[in-house]
Amino acid sequence: MPRLLFADDRGVVYDHPTLRAAVRSGDAMLAPPERPIPLPEGASLAMLPGRRPVGIDPESGALTVLHEVQVGRRRFVPHAVGATLPPGFTRTFLPAAARPALAVAGAAPVLPQWAYTAAALDGEGFAAYALRTDRRRHWSPASHSTPDLRAKVAARLLATPNPIYRQLSRCALEWRCFTAQNTFYGRDEGAIPSSARCNAACVGCISEQPDDMPPASHERIARPPTAEEMAEVAIHHLTTARGKVMVSFGQGCEGEPLLRWKEIERAIRLVRKATSRGSLHANTNGSLPDALGALCRAGLDSVRISLNSAVPDLYAAYYRPHRYGFPDVVRSIQVARRRGAYVALNLLTFPGVTDRAGEAAALCSLVARTRVDQVQTRPLAIDPDVYLAVARGRGAGGQPIGVRALVAALKQARPGLVVGNFSRARPERAATPARSPRGRSPARSPRGQPPARSPRAKG
Ligand code: SF4
Repeated sequence: MPRLLFADDRGVVYDHPTLRAAVRSGDAMLAPPERPIPLPEGASLAMLPGRRPVGIDPESGALTVLHEVQVGRRRFVPHAVGATLPPGFTRTFLPAAARPALAVAGAAPVLPQWAYTAAALDGEGFAAYALRTDRRRHWSPASHSTPDLRAKVAARLLATPNPIYRQLSRCALEWRCFTAQNTFYGRDEGAIPSSARCNAACVGCISEQPDDMPPASHERIARPPTAEEMAEVAIHHLTTARGKVMVSFGQGCEGEPLLRWKEIERAIRLVRKATSRGSLHANTNGSLPDALGALCRAGLDSVRISLNSAVPDLYAAYYRPHRYGFPDVVRSIQVARRRGAYVALNLLTFPGVTDRAGEAAALCSLVARTRVDQVQTRPLAIDPDVYLAVARGRGAGGQPIGVRALVAALKQARPGLVVGNFSRARPERAATPARSPRGRSPARSPRGQPPARSPRAKG
C-alpha cells in the first residue's frame, strides 16, 4: 500500500516510515479502494496548512491521525499533503486530512482555490488518486509557459492597443492561463474575456471572492470590451492561428458572458463577415436561454455550460444565482442543442458529493434527456471543508459510487457521449447519436470499485 505523506512548516515533504496513505470521499476517511497513478507531468504536491495527515496503521487497519512526528532530531506538528493536477486529469479522492476542531483561522486558514487531490508515495515515486480523462496533446503543460512567451506577449501588445490583449497578457504571464497563452502563441483555443459582471456568486468563484475568503486566483477584467474589440481579437486568431483553431468567450478572468449577449452577438456577426475559419465557443453558466439562443443564431457553434449538480437545491447553494434558476440552465442546454451547437457540460466534480448514487442518477438523467455531446469532468477548485459545508444535507443522497463509476455511468446513460476535459474544435467533433436511452440509472457499484468500462478510454 502507498505510504502516507506529510510536510513540515517550510513545506518540505516526507513519507511516513510505517503509516499507509488514506483518502477522503466527502466526510469519510478510508483506505484507498484503488491504486494511485504516478504524479503526472505538470502536477504539484500541495501542503494543507493546519490540517493533520490521516493514515492507515498497516497492522490494525485503523485510521490514524498524525499529531506529531520525529524526523532526525526534530519533533514537529505535521501538515497534510495533497496534489494539484494538470488539465486532462480528474481526481478520484480528496486528501485525508483532519482539521483540529478548535483550530483558529491563523493556524488552519481556508485553503486557496485549488483542486486538492489525495497523494501518496507509491514505490519510489509520488502518486495521486486520479483518472486520466483527456489525452489532447495540444494542452500539454510542456508546450505552455515556455521561455519565449514573454516576448510573444510583448510583440502583440506593441502591434495593437486593443485592451483585451492587456488583460490577456496578465492572464498568460501572472495566472498562467493556457487559453490566454494560446492567444499569444497563435494556436488552438484563444481567449476573449467579455464581461465584468456576473449574475451568480459561486462559493468557489475564481474571479471574485469576499474579503473573508482567500483572494480569487484571477482578477476580473475591469472594463467590458466593445463588440469591435472582441471581433478584432477573434478575427486575428481565427485567421492566423494554427492547430485546432477556436476562440472562447467566458474565461476565468471575467464574469458571465451572457450578460453581454448583445455585444457578443454583434462581435460574432462581425467575425463571421470576415472569416468562416475556426470555431466560436462560449463558456457560460447558462442562465439566460434566450440570450444563448440569439448567440447560436448569430454563429456560436459550441457552448460549455457549468454546473456542480443536476439537483436544484445543491446547484442553488453553490451558484447562489440571481434572477435565474436551475430550470433556466436546463433550458439553455436544450436551446443550444436545438440550434445545432456542440454542447458540453462543465461538471464541477467533488469526490463524495458528485458521485453519490442519487447525484449520479440525476446527472445521468440530465445527460440522456438533453442529449449533450460532451461532459467535461473538472475537479472543483475549493477548500474541501468549504464545499462540504455547502453540500452537506443537500442534493440527492446515497452512497458514493466512486468517480470512476460515475464516468462509466454517464457514458452508459448516453452512448457516444464524450467525457473529457477540453473543448473540441470543429474537426474534433464526432457526431453523437441522435437518440439515447432515457432516464437510466447509473451502474451501482460499491464505492471506488472499477467501472464496467475502461475509465481511461479517451474522451
Ligand atoms: S458563474 Fe463564473 S464568474 Fe459567475 S460567480 Fe460563478 S464562477 Fe464566478
